[in-house]
Amino acid sequence: MAAQKAKLLGEQDAQKVVDELERLYRDAKYFLHFDTTVNLLAGAIIEARTKDEVVIKVTSELFKKYHTAKDYAHSTPEELLKYIRQATFAGNKAKSIIGACKLIEQRYGGKVPSTIDELTELPGIGRKTANTILINGFGIVEGMPIDTWAMRVSYRLGLTDKTDPDGVEDDLKAKVPKRYWANFAYVLKAHGKEICNIVPQCGKCPLNSICPKNGV
Ligand code: SF4
Repeated sequence: MAAQKAKLLGEQDAQKVVDELERLYRDAKYFLHFDTTVNLLAGAIIEARTKDEVVIKVTSELFKKYHTAKDYAHSTPEELLKYIRQATFAGNKAKSIIGACKLIEQRYGGKVPSTIDELTELPGIGRKTANTILINGFGIVEGMPIDTWAMRVSYRLGLTDKTDPDGVEDDLKAKVPKRYWANFAYVLKAHGKEICNIVPQCGKCPLNSICPKNGV
């Protein structure tokens, strides 16, 4: 991202951008298929900095064998690595999943907790992963799961001038109506994949005339 100060859109233009993105990608949703909340948690840990296609591939096999916190708590990092080796930082993620599931067994009787504070106390779980679990596992919307797609697209569009996930989430929460929070990170990711990729295709972007193109 650019060292130059980012231009922020004014309130009305920001609203127009948010509404247009929602109109364009209103069906955008979390990509992962999971059978249990524990597997959602495992998948949400695995997906960090890993391509969606790889996550889908490794979890489709992993989720055939593992379903509960007990299943993971009684496993070993070596055993999990047989399934998730293709993910980035697979060794650390295997340890985090097992560590988180041991605590879920001990503290919560095997049930994934449903508050951001409880979730972020578990190994390998920051705000983004916790928001992913709350939104997709419990329908609880307290924030947005900000990934690198959401950060890059919202920065370019002038919806934020921050370059850290928490700062971006705070800015977006101030600008995006709460009814959009549950899927807005997925909307930004969809626009990133479709048009505003690493090399943005501004010429064919419906937001071209309004976008300040920060860092482009
Ligand atoms: S105009 Fe360019 S930089 Fe702005 S959102 Fe569209 S593709 Fe991205």
